[in-house]
Amino acid sequence: MREILFPIGLSIFLLAIIALIMLYNERHLHEEHLLSEHQQALDLPEGELVYEDADGQGEMLSSSEVPLIGKPDYIVKQADGSLVPIALKLNVLEASAPLPNHEVLIAAYCLILEDYSEIPSTHGILRYADREFVVPYTPALRKKVLRLLGEIEQYTEQRPPPLTKQKVNKCRSCIFQPVCPVGRGK
Ligand code: SF4
Repeated sequence: MREILFPIGLSIFLLAIIALIMLYNERHLHEEHLLSEHQQALDLPEGELVYEDADGQGEMLSSSEVPLIGKPDYIVKQADGSLVPIALKLNVLEASAPLPNHEVLIAAYCLILEDYSEIPSTHGILRYADREFVVPYTPALRKKVLRLLGEIEQYTEQRPPPLTKQKVNKCRSCIFQPVCPVGRGK
């Protein structure tokens, strides 16, 4: 009797394992399909959507090298492992080129992302209301972010930044807020 029951039990067990694997694969494929549909709807560049903050729910990202924190709207991981930050600035219309402060923002995101991938970012994307720009993460732009950080850190009450009357909202969305004596408390 035992000789008959053992193979039957083993077969049932194996069938259950196969069914579980099939169920897992089906769910996994379904999730991938939903994710790819979502990405297509967002019209994001090719790659894997690995981060999203368009709804404000993304975790805060930070650099271990410099006092920068930030939340890009999206991050797409390319096939080579590099990360592409995407910033939405949908209140900007009819710009013929990226605004300089937005270029700095993209470069600051790329700098932060150096902590999140061994392959450095090569560019980010700025999406305005009616068009988008690819912003190359050049050594010059990286240097500019570091220089601005250094300048902002030097400001004191006696030597405030030129923009002492920045709007609260602007400071809150500013990448330099953690080190800016004017924006920090806002
Ligand atoms: S935090 Fe505010 S004041 Fe400071 S650099 Fe940013 S926008 Fe200007």
